[in-house]
Amino acid sequence: MASEKNFANPLRRNLQRLLRSMDYVSRHPVLRRDGAAARQMVEVYQHLGLAWEFLALQCRHDGGWRRVGEGKLACKICGSIRGMKEHWLLLPRTGPKIVGRQSRPTSKRTFASRKAATVVNDSINFHGVKLNVEVLNPHRSRLFRRLDITVAPDRLVKLQEGAVECSLSTHRVDLRLEPRKPKERPPYSAFASELPRKMLKRFPIMVNYDQRGRFVGLTILKSL
Ligand SMILES: [Zn+2]
Repeated sequence: MASEKNFANPLRRNLQRLLRSMDYVSRHPVLRRDGAAARQMVEVYQHLGLAWEFLALQCRHDGGWRRVGEGKLACKICGSIRGMKEHWLLLPRTGPKIVGRQSRPTSKRTFASRKAATVVNDSINFHGVKLNVEVLNPHRSRLFRRLDITVAPDRLVKLQEGAVECSLSTHRVDLRLEPRKPKERPPYSAFASELPRKMLKRFPIMVNYDQRGRFVGLTILKSL
């Protein structure tokens, strides 16, 4: 029954062959003496190790675990240690790609620094668009280098396409059309209702609202 299962799973078969090759290389007699041949063998072993790491990424670790000492468990198929951090991601070339989960703040405790409060801070460059997700627990921060304040837990998402940057957090959506030049003053901000009509006419903004008059979105027309 077990051999039948092995035969049906090409990944298991490939991994078994690879692990056998690694065993063979690691026990090779040339390793008993230092020299060019031994160094070459070590090099081959490193390459096989890399191949093993990549093959193991395809493993779903659903064939059970075996004890390997020090209280650790290894996958029966690929030999990965349970709970170990993986250094690589394997994504399908076609179809939806999933990296991570929608993580949220994990604690109500206030941490001493932003770094200590970080749950996730990860970036990806996807076909030329940059995406960063930062999830933070409550933490202490210095405002203007003096005032000590507590920053609320938040999930910050930043998307950057060319010069345009879109930032999303729990209570805000910010859109910036061009980066601020060094030493340039920060831009002014105002509610649309506060601005004179003359000024509003120069802004290529359309406010989107539904039948009940509820604000549902914003369109910005970019000049050519
Ligand atoms: Zn596995």
